[in-house]
Amino acid sequence: MASGGGNNRNGTHRNSLKGTTTTSTASTDKPLSVNSNPSKPAFKNKSSPLTGASSGLRKSSPGSLGGGAAKDDAGVPGRVRVAVRLRPRNAEESVADADFADCVELQPELKRLKLRKNNWDTDTYEFDEVLTEFASQKRVYEVVAKPVVEGVLDGYNGTIMAYGQTGTGKTYTLGRLGEEDTANRGIMVRAMEDILAEVSPEIDSVLVSYLQLYMESLQDLLDPTNDNISIVEEPKSGDVSLPGATLVEIRDQQSFLELLRLGEAHRHAANTKLNTESSRSHALLMVHVKRTVKGREPAHSSDNGNSTSMARSLRPPLVRKGKLVVVDLAGSERIDKSGSDGHTREEAKSINLSLSALGKCINALAENSAHVPVRDSKLTRLLRDSFGGTARTSLVITVGPSPRHRGETASTIMFGQRAMKVENMLKLKEEFDYKSLARRLDIQLDKLIMEHERKQKAFEVEIERITAEAQNRISEAERNYADAVEKERLKYQKDYMESIKKLEEKWMMNQQNQGNERKMVHIAEEVAEVKKLLSKETSLRKAAEEEVDNLKSQLAQLKMSEALANSEILKLQKMVEDEVCQKEKLEGEISMLQSQLLHLSFEADETRKRLDRGGPGKVPGGLDSPVSQVRSQLKDSGNGEKASVAKLFEQVGLQKILSLLEAEDADVRIHAVKVVANLAAEETNQQKIVEAGGLKSLLMLLGSSEDETIHRVAAGAIANLAMNEKNQELIMSQGGISLLSTTASHAKDPQTLRMVAGAIANLCGNDKLQTKLRGEGGIKALLEIVKCGHPDVLAQVARGIANFAKCESRASTQGSKTGRSLLIEDGALPWIVQNANSDASPIRRHTELALCHLAQHEVNAKDMISEGALWELVRISQDCPREDIRTLAHRTLASSPDFIAGLKRLRIDY
Ligand code: ADP
Ligand code: MG
Repeated sequence: MASGGGNNRNGTHRNSLKGTTTTSTASTDKPLSVNSNPSKPAFKNKSSPLTGASSGLRKSSPGSLGGGAAKDDAGVPGRVRVAVRLRPRNAEESVADADFADCVELQPELKRLKLRKNNWDTDTYEFDEVLTEFASQKRVYEVVAKPVVEGVLDGYNGTIMAYGQTGTGKTYTLGRLGEEDTANRGIMVRAMEDILAEVSPEIDSVLVSYLQLYMESLQDLLDPTNDNISIVEEPKSGDVSLPGATLVEIRDQQSFLELLRLGEAHRHAANTKLNTESSRSHALLMVHVKRTVKGREPAHSSDNGNSTSMARSLRPPLVRKGKLVVVDLAGSERIDKSGSDGHTREEAKSINLSLSALGKCINALAENSAHVPVRDSKLTRLLRDSFGGTARTSLVITVGPSPRHRGETASTIMFGQRAMKVENMLKLKEEFDYKSLARRLDIQLDKLIMEHERKQKAFEVEIERITAEAQNRISEAERNYADAVEKERLKYQKDYMESIKKLEEKWMMNQQNQGNERKMVHIAEEVAEVKKLLSKETSLRKAAEEEVDNLKSQLAQLKMSEALANSEILKLQKMVEDEVCQKEKLEGEISMLQSQLLHLSFEADETRKRLDRGGPGKVPGGLDSPVSQVRSQLKDSGNGEKASVAKLFEQVGLQKILSLLEAEDADVRIHAVKVVANLAAEETNQQKIVEAGGLKSLLMLLGSSEDETIHRVAAGAIANLAMNEKNQELIMSQGGISLLSTTASHAKDPQTLRMVAGAIANLCGNDKLQTKLRGEGGIKALLEIVKCGHPDVLAQVARGIANFAKCESRASTQGSKTGRSLLIEDGALPWIVQNANSDASPIRRHTELALCHLAQHEVNAKDMISEGALWELVRISQDCPREDIRTLAHRTLASSPDFIAGLKRLRIDY
C-alpha cells in the first residue's frame, strides 16, 4: 500500500513538468504575418518551443501612448504595424478619371507604394504590407488583424485602427457583416470568430462594448440614452476603463452580429458630398477576453481517485486578460472639402481635435519625445493602454485611386509613415554595432539552450534514480518489518500454546497425586520453571517490540529524505523556468535588434543611393556669393532640398541663378541647372522661369553643352515646363524638337532618354502642334529612343504616342485632319502593336489607348489589319483591365466594315 502511494507522488511530479512544456508549445502560435521582414520567419519559429514562459506574462502594463518611453521588460517588442489598402475605382471615378492614371501605383511584392508627383515622376514609400484593390477581405484580416487577435488571446492589449479619407473603405475593411456573402466579412466579424473558436465557454468570458465618439462626447451604441460616458484611468497601472458603458457577454457569433446591427442602427452618420454612407464620428468596438490558462486549473478533475499532490491543488487558476479595441476613425479629409452644412464648424473642430491629437501623439512617440499629449482628446485618452508599448497595434490606412484627391492621399500616406516609426526610434539613437551584438547574443542563446537541455536531462535522470532508490528502500523496509512481526507472532503463539499444554498436563498429574508432599515440592519446582519461561517470553517480546520501533523510525527517516528530494525537485523546476524566461528575453532582444538592423541597413542604402545620385562637387576658390550659396544649398540634399531651393530662390534671385547657366566653370553650370530644374518642378515657379528667359537658356544648354548630367537635368526641367500649353509652343518655336532629338542621339544614360522622352511626350499632347511636331521629326525621334529598351523610357514614349494619337483622333473627328495617321506614316505602328501587350503596365496602358484611338478612323484600318493590330484589338476588347478601353475597342471592332471583313478573313470568331 505504501509503495503505491510513493509511486503516485513521483509520477505526479513528472507529469506536471511535462504538462507545462506541452501547454507552452501548444500556445505558441503561427508566425506574425504583419512583419516588415518576411524573410525572417525563422526567428519566430525558433522561439516557439520556449514562448511557453510567456505564460508568465500577465496583462500588459501601461501602454507607451501614456508614458512616452515607458516600456515593460516583459512586453512584446515591435512597433505599430502599418498596412496600406487601395480601394478599386468606383463607377463615378471610372467615368470621370477615364483618361487619367491612378494617383498611386502599388508594388505589393516590394511592399512599396509609388505616389505620382506628375506625369513622369513619383515618390516611393515603404509599408509593412501593401494591399492592392484586388486584396480579399480574408487576406486583409490575416495580415492586419490576426496577429493582434492572437496577442489578445495570449493576454495582451491590442488595437486595430483604420485611417483615411471618407469613402476610401475604412468601414468596408473593419465593419462589413458579410450577410450577403461571407467572403465580404470585415475585421470585427472575423476577429470575433477567431476569439470564440479559442475560448472555452465554461471557464472563459468574452465581453463587448460598442461606442461612438462624436464631438468629444462618448456615447453608448448599445444604449443610446447613455450619451456621456466618462473615462476612468487607473493611476497606478494606467489601465483605462469605462464603468458607464454597457458590457454584453458574447457566447456565439449570432448574438455578436445582432449586437453590431443594433449598434449600427444607432450610429450617427452624417451625409457628405463625398459619400452618402460616410460618417464623421469615430466608432470603437471593445472586446474584453478573460481566459483560464490550460494545464493550470485546480485539481478537482482528478477522477482516478488518486490524491494529487498538495502543490497542485493549492495553486490558483491562472487567468489572462486581453483587450481588443477596433477603431473606425472619422474621415481624415479637411472638413471644407466635404461641403457639409449646419453645425459643421463646431463638428469640424471636434473631429479634428481627436484626429489631430492622435496625429500629435504619434509624432511624439515616433520622435521619442518626453511628453506625449495623451490628455488632449478623448480618443487618445481612451487608447492610452491600447496603443504602442506592450500592446500590439495595427493601423490600416485606406486610400482611393483618383488623381483628384492626390493631396488627401498624400497626407494619409504621411500619417501612415509616421505611425510606422512609433516605438522604433527609442533604440535608433543608440549607436550599437548591431550585427556583432546580434551574433554575440545568438551564440549566447545557443549556449543557454544547450546548457538548459543538458541540465534538464541530468535533472530527469537524477529524479528517476532517486525515485527508484526510495522505492526500493521503502519496499525492503516494509518487507522486513512484516516478516519480523509475523515470525515473532508465530513464535510467541507456539510458545504460549506449549506452556498451556504443559500446565494442563502438570495440573492433571497434580490431581492424581494429591496429598503427596514430594510431588508438591516437584510441582513448586515446575511452577518456578514455568515462571522462568514466562519471563523469558516477556523479554523476547520486548526485543521484538524494540525491533518494530527501530523499523518504524527507519521508515520515518526514509519519508523525510523523500520530502527533501521533492523540495530539491521543486527547486530544479524553478531553475528551469528561470532559464526559459531568460532565453525568451534574449530572443525578444534579438528580434528587436534584427528589425532595427534591417531598418538601419535600409536607411544606409537609401543614404548611399542619395550620395551616389548627388556626388559632391568641389568648390574652386574665389567664386562670388551666389555660386557658393548654390553649392551649399545643393549639398544639403534630402528632405530639406525643396525648402532650401525655395529659400535660395528668394535670397539669390532668379535672374542671377539663370545667369550662372552660362558660367565659365562647368561645375557651376551643373549646379545652376540643378537648381533651375528643382524650381521648375514647382508649378508656381514655372511662369517666372519662362519670363526670365530660363527656357531659352535651358534649350541653349542642350545645344551647347557636352556634359550628359547637364543634358539630363536640363531635359528634365524642360519636360516640367512642357506641361503648360503656352510653354509647349515656345519650346517648339525655339527648335526644341531638333535639340531634344540630338540630345537623345548622344545620350548614354537611360535617365537622360527618359527625360527627353518625357518632354516630347508632353509636347505630343498639344492639339495645335501636331503637324509641326511631326514635321520636325518628333515621332521619328521617339522611335529612335525606343532602341534603348529601358522600361521607364519606353513608358514615356508610349505616353507620347498615346497623347499624339488622342489629339489626332480628336482632329479627325472634328474634320480638321484627313488622311492616314501621321503615326502610321512615320512607321510607329509596328512598335505600338509589338508593345500593346507589354508586361509593364504603364507601357501597355498607353499603347492600348493609342491603338484604340487609331482604330477610330476607317482610313487607318487597312494598315492596322496588315500590321497585326486586329489581334491586339480583339484581345483589348476582351481582357483589358480598364472597362472604358475594353468597351471602346469592342465598339470599334463591331462598327468598322474593314475590321468586320478582316475578322471574317482571319476567321476570328467575334
Ligand atoms: P469609409 O468608411 O472610409 O468612408 P466605406 O467603407 O464606406 O468608406 O467605403 C466607401 C464605398 O466604397 C462603399 O460603397 C464600399 O462598399 C466601397 N468600397 C470600399 N472599399 C472597397 C473595396 N476594397 N472593394 C470594393 N468596394 C469597396
Ligand atoms: Mg465609414
